Amino acid sequence: MAYDEMAVDRVQHAILETPRTDIMSAADISRRVIVVGGGIAGLAVSMRLAQAGFPVILLEASELGSAASARNQGWLHSGALFALDTPPYARACMAALDQTLRFCPECIEPDASPMLYLFSRDDADVGSWTQAWTAAGIPWHSIPINSACAGLTGLDTTRIRYAFQLPDRAIRTSHLLFRLAAAAQAAGVEVRACTPARCLPIENRRIYGVVTSSGEVIYGQMVILAGGSSGLDMCSEFLEQCPGGQADFELIRLKSHLAALQPMIGPTPFCIPDAGGLNHLPHGTSSVFGSTQWERVSTADDLPIPKHVERLKQTIDEFFPDQISRSDSLQLWAGTTAQALRFDQIEAGRDIWPAVIDHARHVPPVDNLISVFAGRATLWAKLAEDTRRIVRAKLDVGPLQPAPRI
Ligand SMILES: Cc1cc2nc3c(=O)[nH]c(=O)nc-3n(C[C@H](O)[C@H](O)[C@H](O)COP(=O)(O)OP(=O)(O)OC[C@H]3O[C@@H](n4cnc5c(N)ncnc54)[C@H](O)[C@@H]3O)c2cc1C
Repeated sequence: MAYDEMAVDRVQHAILETPRTDIMSAADISRRVIVVGGGIAGLAVSMRLAQAGFPVILLEASELGSAASARNQGWLHSGALFALDTPPYARACMAALDQTLRFCPECIEPDASPMLYLFSRDDADVGSWTQAWTAAGIPWHSIPINSACAGLTGLDTTRIRYAFQLPDRAIRTSHLLFRLAAAAQAAGVEVRACTPARCLPIENRRIYGVVTSSGEVIYGQMVILAGGSSGLDMCSEFLEQCPGGQADFELIRLKSHLAALQPMIGPTPFCIPDAGGLNHLPHGTSSVFGSTQWERVSTADDLPIPKHVERLKQTIDEFFPDQISRSDSLQLWAGTTAQALRFDQIEAGRDIWPAVIDHARHVPPVDNLISVFAGRATLWAKLAEDTRRIVRAKLDVGPLQPAPRI
């Protein structure tokens, strides 16, 4: 069980399910935007569109936030990890960190401090890193290794050469999901959990609604697919490769592995960029470890791949000898997410940008279908704003309410 599963359960029970279709006017139904998928992407996009004045219905196959959005590591990136290779992505992460803290301050993991960036190699080019952080507007400071590592039980400090503190935080994703769901509902989104979308009926390049698994047809003027990894097949249906019509991106599934140890090694999150990106995020009474390795996979399952589990355990062992064997409990799990990557980004796991795909521009063309991919959960606000802009540009809807600042 993922560390956040109980909390996700609370999200479900707190969400009011008030079907509004019966009180929606025919005019509203014809203007309606249908969002498929109730993870962080679907919730953020629904909220933003409803705030902008669109009637929105969100269909979730099972429970809100039950897939990648609840199985992730809860790392609110400052962008420092990406500042050397992709400065624009680092800046986008830093902006997202500020937006997330403003929108949902309670999502910060209580008692956890800002993140340590530790370097383990003598020849680590820390000068380049610090310059890149400064250039990206990410505040940092160097700290003595002993005081930096004092709170990390079992760490072999002889392996650490440099230590810096950066603003990355451990967050409780369930709190962010809950806040988004509540804001979406307050803005008028009709949320329907346990309503899988089964197919998208299409006529003359236009989708006229969504057919649910019970056979109900939900009509609307636009469909937004936010189904994450498990919803990819619906989207792929429209993107079969056509000779000469290749899109400039590829839809891929990415899998990553996490390990939770109890008792926790301490309340300090850290990452070690020059050790496979080994990282640690404290959550409740657990220490959740991950790495920056992502595997390309072909199925939507979340089953761990043994060789990747072993690699993660070995890296933890190198820095925290015997800590796994001494722990009271070790949980290992994998999570899968989906992303639209440009071909030069296929070495996955680094700068995975939020992507909004307007299918009118791709083969085969569908005029009123959009697919959205979050990239990182914490880039939700950028994804939502990018989507709002594209939807606004595509739909002839007259003046809309200005979107509130996040
Ligand atoms: C192991 C792991 C660790 C990660 N760590 C981090 C991290 O620390 N920080 C960070 O920012 N990001 C992290 N990410 C990335 C982040 O979790 C994802 O980018 C994000 O959660 C994707 O959200 P989503 O809404 O697109 O997809 P999901 O959360 O997968 O949601 C998709 C939803 O659509 C629903 N759905 C699918 N098909 C249908 C259908 N036919 N009808 C109706 N509903 C449907 C599903 O039930 C699901 O609820 C991590 C991802 C993984 C896998």
